[in-house]
Amino acid sequence: MDYKKIRAQFPFFKNNPDQIYFDSSATSLKPQIVIDAINNYYSHYGTNPHNIDSDLGYATNTQYKMIRSKIKHFINAKKDTEIIFTSGATYSLNQIAYGLGDLIKAGDEILITRQEHGANILPWYRLAAETKAQVKFLPETNFKIDLEQLTKVITAKTKIVSFSNVPNILGYENDPRKIIAVIKKINPHVIVVVDCAQGIIHMPTDVQKWDADFIAFSAHKIFGPTGIGILWGKEELLLKLKPLIVGGGMNTRIQSNGADYILKGLPDRLEGGTSNIADIFGFGAAIDFINMLTLEEIISYMHQLKQYAVEQFNQKLKDMVIIYNADAKVGTLIFNVKDVFCQDVATHLGSCNKIIVRSGDHCARLIGEIIPDKNTIRVSFSIYNSYEDIDHLVAAIANEKDFLGRMI
Ligand code: PMP
Repeated sequence: MDYKKIRAQFPFFKNNPDQIYFDSSATSLKPQIVIDAINNYYSHYGTNPHNIDSDLGYATNTQYKMIRSKIKHFINAKKDTEIIFTSGATYSLNQIAYGLGDLIKAGDEILITRQEHGANILPWYRLAAETKAQVKFLPETNFKIDLEQLTKVITAKTKIVSFSNVPNILGYENDPRKIIAVIKKINPHVIVVVDCAQGIIHMPTDVQKWDADFIAFSAHKIFGPTGIGILWGKEELLLKLKPLIVGGGMNTRIQSNGADYILKGLPDRLEGGTSNIADIFGFGAAIDFINMLTLEEIISYMHQLKQYAVEQFNQKLKDMVIIYNADAKVGTLIFNVKDVFCQDVATHLGSCNKIIVRSGDHCARLIGEIIPDKNTIRVSFSIYNSYEDIDHLVAAIANEKDFLGRMI
């Protein structure tokens, strides 16, 4: 992978040549083609894809459909109409939980892991509170869902299982295909949701091979714009979801008694209102960008960076740091500098060394139940990072012993 050529495609680095960006798990930087695609919509298309009575409206609608289809291929969905545009993974997960409300009753069980992001915890707690169902936890061994023990927690009461294939802190991969096979063998009625917000760029997504029921992800973590994401579901299940948003474009009739309206088919019934059209154009360009590089190459490069970072940390910072996920393949490094609060380290790196990392519990607020330190530093790699970036990080930590010492 020609790292320099790739990096040159990200205007962020032209405008911030001295910054090192290690927070791609929170949001990735955007290549020029994504920014151009957004600009292209506003500058050339301008029209609403719901209005196809003009040539330009038709052209916007055609692009819109092509992008939906591109995303279908990217995740290997069966039909374009199973791809629902939302504002992001958080919205998608909320739509699933809200939309299933009528199917859940008192005593039912919803299973998640302790590593989930708040977006894959709170919608389920709210659903449980409203229906008197119970949220329970999936068994984990070495930070992965334990397939053997899984057989003991799936019962006739299990209605929903929701887990991230790549959790946003430790990043140990859960294989959706194997997990879903175990669940459905015991109880084929369980609805399985995969939070792919991180996984979408760390492993190939194949919803048909996995036999998932729903997945959720955001464009902004995969080189696309903010404010746009995907809810995918099996057609028959999407049709059962009660829409979270009601309004224009999603119904065919409203009667004057107000109570009775007929919903359109998919995807419209779950896309009330005017969509984020410009960012959908940007999203399409982000998928093109990934396909051009190939997802496999991106994943492999991130693995190499992770491996190099672990080696360098072990060689040069061994007595100073604790690493929590050294053997996770995924391109994130979770660590703490001994006896120094993570945010002090992150602020020091960010403000004195221009190295942008993330600190805290990373919105996975139950993580403290499975690792000793709830708050950690997260360094997340992407294709625009280099081995030299990692050398700078290691040097910045190693050289700042005095400063960090004062923080104790
Ligand atoms: N799930 C996981 C695992 C995440 O990492 C995130 C974002 N940090 C989300 C869900 C929510 O994504 P968004 O904020 O884009 O809606």
